[in-house]
Amino acid sequence: MDNITNNFITDFIKEDLGENLNSLITRFPPEPNGHLHIGHAKSIILNGELAKHFGGKFNMRFDDTNPSKESVEFVNSILEDVKWLGYDYGDRLFYASNYFETFYECALNLINKGLAFVCDLTGEQVHEYRGTFTEPGKNSPFRERSIEENLKLFKEMKEGIYKDGEKTLRAKIDMAHPNIVMRDPVIYRIAHIHHHNTSDNWCIYPMYDYAHPLEDAIENITHSLCSLEFENNRPLYNWFIEHAWIGESKPRQIEFGKLSISKSILGKRHLNKLVSEKKVQGFADPRLLTLKGLRSRGYTPEIIKTFVNEVGISKADGTVEIELLEHHARDILKKETKSLMAVLDPLKVVITNYEGEEELELENSSEAELGSRKVLFTKEIYIEASDFMENPPKKFFRLAPGVEVRLKGAYAIVCEEIIKDSSGKITELRCTYDPQTKSGSGFNARKIKGVLHWVSEKYAVKKTVNLIDYLLNEDGSLNENSIVKKEALIEKEITAEDERVQFMRHGYFYKNEEEELNLIVSLKSSFK
Ligand code: ATP
Ligand code: MG
Repeated sequence: MDNITNNFITDFIKEDLGENLNSLITRFPPEPNGHLHIGHAKSIILNGELAKHFGGKFNMRFDDTNPSKESVEFVNSILEDVKWLGYDYGDRLFYASNYFETFYECALNLINKGLAFVCDLTGEQVHEYRGTFTEPGKNSPFRERSIEENLKLFKEMKEGIYKDGEKTLRAKIDMAHPNIVMRDPVIYRIAHIHHHNTSDNWCIYPMYDYAHPLEDAIENITHSLCSLEFENNRPLYNWFIEHAWIGESKPRQIEFGKLSISKSILGKRHLNKLVSEKKVQGFADPRLLTLKGLRSRGYTPEIIKTFVNEVGISKADGTVEIELLEHHARDILKKETKSLMAVLDPLKVVITNYEGEEELELENSSEAELGSRKVLFTKEIYIEASDFMENPPKKFFRLAPGVEVRLKGAYAIVCEEIIKDSSGKITELRCTYDPQTKSGSGFNARKIKGVLHWVSEKYAVKKTVNLIDYLLNEDGSLNENSIVKKEALIEKEITAEDERVQFMRHGYFYKNEEEELNLIVSLKSSFK
């Protein structure tokens, strides 16, 4: 995790904490209004690993201050995903909604200092008064209310005397501030909505920009790491810590570049749309880069972590090619998966001069520690249809009439005869084998170029495989063929110990909950 633990953020941390690096407290603060995706994983990994690296603490915190879109289902889904990734927050699980009382006290603090006022402007009017990048805003006509009046009105807001939208509490900063977020931002709004945690106790809810710094301060977060879009809000973050916060802690916000990935869709809003329009099968659809999608596809936390570390932490947003993720998947899966034979588009081959059956010993992988296995060889087998051509071009090193190829781990065969049905479709090949070419016998009398994978007709098992492709085409349109189902013939049953396997010359597959095999990643890469 070198890149995660050594970057511009860790420079700041070292500068700030000096000898006391283990006083570092980070947090992952999702709003429970959707499912996590690989972008969130970057934030979890960054915050989790930094805490680990410096001997500090990592807080899991729900930023649940906007009840209209939040739910317990999302809370549970997020916790499950964070644990799956390997970040055990232990008892450090917090809910911003448990701080509502403190937020309220801090608001009273602001009012008492003359730094907040109750405003009767409508949302639309607030917007009109705000000004633009080039023009200053106008003061609200309610800005000069007395502290007593503000205290009274704010308490009434809390007591539920007013309707949604009738009043807001606003910070009193500067309507001519060059940074628009500093122009008397709204800090409380009225919303008579049920909250998943606080039920109907509150009908005023704090705004994100106000609540977030206070949440950090309450939890003694030392470094509050967030994505770049919050850079503009940093002065406001600091303003609330300085003026509203009633404690001593001083969290520091640092922004980093958001992760986006080519040919895929992240972002809760976009993911929700895909799911609600039924373009995918749900949030765990294996084509999605949600954490649930990645898990059901067969990705492991290790792959995701390695990838995130490789991408690194930078000050700028950037799109990473999805091929980099796939590269790390291959790199890791290569070391831990057995390589088996599976035929996706079977073509029958009868070896006319072979009788009976025999057990062959095949290496499980080029990685020696993965051992070997026994495979039964029989007279009738299947090869991949694309491994045969009746009229091959010059450099076709697979099976063709009169051409000799090796069957992986078995014998060399020559195609003697092609059987076709009445429509001219090839239905079967008749081949002969040469007994002295047995694999491992040291045979080298002839050079045999092609090696084909095969399965025994008698012993192969049939399994549904899902050939998964990118969700988006190069031009950003939805790829209509992003899942192709096939009935594959596999040399043997995939046992529980082999959740993930390689199918020789195809790719890495994962046995999902439905006992179907998902293509995690194909063997070949176009990544440079
Ligand atoms: P989305 O962008 O998918 O709508 P969000 O930003 O609304 O997600 P939050 O629940 O607010 O999701 O995010 C929790 C944390 O995850 C925040 O600190 C946010 O900065 C971080 N985060 C979200 N998306 C990414 C991303 N693509 N890359 C890095 N960090 C991210
Ligand atoms: Mg966002």
